[in-house]
Amino acid sequence: MKISTIDVFVLVTPLDEPFAFSQGWVRQRSATLVRVQTDNGLTGWGEAFTQGLEPPQIAAATIEHALKPLLIGENPLDHSVLWERMYTATRDYGRKGSVISAISAIDIALWDIAGHFYQQPVYQLLGGQHRNTVQPYATGFYRLQGQNEAERLAEEAMQHREAGFTAMKIKLGFGVADDIRVMQKIAAALNDTTIDLMVDTNHAYGRSDALRLGHALEDFNLRWYEEPVVPEDIGGYAELRTALTTPIAGGENEHTPYGFNDLFKAAALDIAQPDIGSCGGFTAARNIAVMAHANGVAVNPHVWGSAIAQAASLQLIATIPPANHALYPLHPVLEYDRSSHPFRQHLVATPWSMDDGVIAIPDGPGLGIEVRLDTVEKFSSHS
Ligand code: CA
Repeated sequence: MKISTIDVFVLVTPLDEPFAFSQGWVRQRSATLVRVQTDNGLTGWGEAFTQGLEPPQIAAATIEHALKPLLIGENPLDHSVLWERMYTATRDYGRKGSVISAISAIDIALWDIAGHFYQQPVYQLLGGQHRNTVQPYATGFYRLQGQNEAERLAEEAMQHREAGFTAMKIKLGFGVADDIRVMQKIAAALNDTTIDLMVDTNHAYGRSDALRLGHALEDFNLRWYEEPVVPEDIGGYAELRTALTTPIAGGENEHTPYGFNDLFKAAALDIAQPDIGSCGGFTAARNIAVMAHANGVAVNPHVWGSAIAQAASLQLIATIPPANHALYPLHPVLEYDRSSHPFRQHLVATPWSMDDGVIAIPDGPGLGIEVRLDTVEKFSSHS
């Protein structure tokens, strides 16, 4: 079996209503998808992480020009060998960011092919599943104006709860005083200690403001405090961990076992959040998870993308053991973006949904999805 064809699809569509997180205004939804095909008729799909402000063309160009020549004619089941080849070939200009997202997309597609070859879900090839369902948490709380939206965000929290979510992550980073007002309004509106709350500032602050916010939020009993400072400030992460009782989470902007190793060595995290579409795919994520647990760090994958990235993340989550064995351990939860996404649900033949507060992990071969080519074509940008 040999890799015969690799196609990259850049999907772009404008949002009716732009929204903001702390780093800027998101005006479009985009995705970088890759389809890998073999000479015996198997197909694998992958997706590169593309955050709201990231041009999807960077990962696409990396796949087209840097990775494809390394892969055509190779055995797709050699995914570890090929990962090493892709990483070392791009080392001098890669190591982080969109280049690793491109490698991640290919790696996901190769595991999808392996699943179709062996007629097993990816989680089975990775050694089996620790769970067959996962609890989703609502990610949302984006801003439509900017500051002073505490009332509307409190109403949004009620909507997530009515939709069945028992965990939700609030976007902060719009000024410490505004952030505190938002949290007070949301907590007062929910008035419910059974709802797990997390916060995410997307590294809006330096150490002192991040600490000030962290102290102000200690009474909210947060499940985690995500990206409090910039990803480069590993010392800042470690300082916050020491100063606060709230667990510190991060890693969506870190990449590969090499990058995560720096975080673990510095005792910078309570919860590592590798994203399957940017940490280096399954091949990197499984090693990052082992390294995390060996360093006393829990793993809760981050995910942001279309249905392909979500499907890959579901397979990964299935394979991650609880960080601490107990009768009632804390299981990883699935990031479930509740904001508008024109093509996410239409990209797969059988979109998943939440039943009784959980999402079932697909158990078909590979990623367990059937990608709809009509949707890929409809939203493809050919510029
Ligand atoms: Ca985040």
